[in-house]
Amino acid sequence: MKLRKVTAAAATALVLSLTATACGGDGKSDSADTGSGSGGGDKIKIGIKYDQPGLGLKEPDGSFSGFDVDVATYVAKELGYNEDQIEFVETKSADRENALARGDVKFIAATYSITPERQEKVDFAGPYLLAHQDLLVKADSDITEATDLNGKNLCSVTGSTSAQNVKNDFAPQANLEERSGYSECIAALQSGRVDALTTDDSILAGFAAQEQYKGQFKLAGLKLSNENYGIGVKKGDTETANKINTALEKMVSDKSWNKAVTDNFGPAKYKNEPAPKIGNIVK
Ligand code: GLU
Repeated sequence: MKLRKVTAAAATALVLSLTATACGGDGKSDSADTGSGSGGGDKIKIGIKYDQPGLGLKEPDGSFSGFDVDVATYVAKELGYNEDQIEFVETKSADRENALARGDVKFIAATYSITPERQEKVDFAGPYLLAHQDLLVKADSDITEATDLNGKNLCSVTGSTSAQNVKNDFAPQANLEERSGYSECIAALQSGRVDALTTDDSILAGFAAQEQYKGQFKLAGLKLSNENYGIGVKKGDTETANKINTALEKMVSDKSWNKAVTDNFGPAKYKNEPAPKIGNIVK
């Protein structure tokens, strides 16, 4: 009954500080969301990429764009969160499993391929897009096949399936430089320090279409792998995964998925695969 004696102002301050703690990035395991989302004021933290044009990009004005951003925003809405309740957090390729395990984010939509290795650490909803590993090279390059990479300098990103596939399969003799993000690889390709950049065609098309790179690069057009993009959730969070699957199905059936494709892949002329069926992982 102590509380009854506190002044109204003090009580308000107490409520505010509790809210701030619940919503703040304190790294606690329960900080990724703070309730159902329908009550207003609650926030949801979502992991995306910050440097992948057309997929997940932090714009100079601080806003976010890309297919993953649109998918994440749609899904969050279905979970009960408006756009102004979303806090996007950067989750680089190598940080994704840890970010989910720590509870930094509620879910991740970041060109995140569903793989058996990752499924040991996190759960996935989806898939919601099928992409393929490809190569980006200078417009005048004579690299046309993955085997051409042996002995060449190649850039990819730590913790990605792209880097792993190069080492395991495509070009074990390539001189692979691993960076923390694809924007660093693009800079290395532009300067000539590397001969090729490898990752998903969806990402490469987005970079190649950027105004500052127009005409400089070309995609090899190889479908080196199947990359089934899923939405990652914390291991065991079946409830969220199920809700996200329902949201993804709705996004396809109400044509919002098509709109997101046109809006984000149209400018890059990226020819995406049709919407995958939930649970249908292409090997
Ligand atoms: N989709 C691949 C992966 O999940 C490559 C893109 C990325 O690094 O996010 O690893």
